[in-house]
Amino acid sequence: MAEAGATPSLSEAAWQGVSAAFAALGRVFICLDDRYRVIHASTTLDDILGRELGPGGEARSDTEIGAYVRDRASGTIFHPVGTCKMGTDEMAVVDPTLRVHGLDGLRVVDASIMPTLIGGNTNAPTIMIAEKAAAMMLGA
Ligand SMILES: Cc1cc2nc3c(=O)[nH]c(=O)nc-3n(C[C@H](O)[C@H](O)[C@H](O)COP(=O)(O)OP(=O)(O)OC[C@H]3O[C@@H](n4cnc5c(N)ncnc54)[C@H](O)[C@@H]3O)c2cc1C
Repeated sequence: MAEAGATPSLSEAAWQGVSAAFAALGRVFICLDDRYRVIHASTTLDDILGRELGPGGEARSDTEIGAYVRDRASGTIFHPVGTCKMGTDEMAVVDPTLRVHGLDGLRVVDASIMPTLIGGNTNAPTIMIAEKAAAMMLGA
């Protein structure tokens, strides 16, 4: 740490920026997690909601959730995918035609259906997903 009043070195300045970004990300996550837990606590969605996978019951305080974000939620490099992954296993949200499992008349068509983070950029594959979905909907 730099002494009070001293100009931080470049690496310290960069680290402070990263720390501030993580703090901001943590605050967003805490707000989302609070909302999610309110929804999860209601009985309305009991039939379709399973158990909370992350951060899980062990992380309750803002500090604990912040630690979870720093440890686990920081590797997408602006390419978040997979929150509605396509597949046929129990973790899959949509089937291979992008229809939401267990619901009629609803498809998900975006980067969220990628089962895993691909090795390259995500924009072009997302456009391909959309074009494929349009073709499937038109029956082509
Ligand atoms: C900083 C940054 C740089 C990137 N650089 C590249 C790159 O160089 N090359 C590359 O291939 N990919 C890049 N990506 C990734 C690429 O942008 C995404 O993978 C792609 O845009 C994902 O498309 P999407 O349709 O899933 O989501 P988005 O493009 O995020 O589209 C979601 C849309 O839904 C809208 N929306 C959200 N909530 C609601 C709501 N409640 N009601 C109505 N509309 C809503 C949003 O306004 C938005 O228009 C980058 C991403 C970021 C953040």
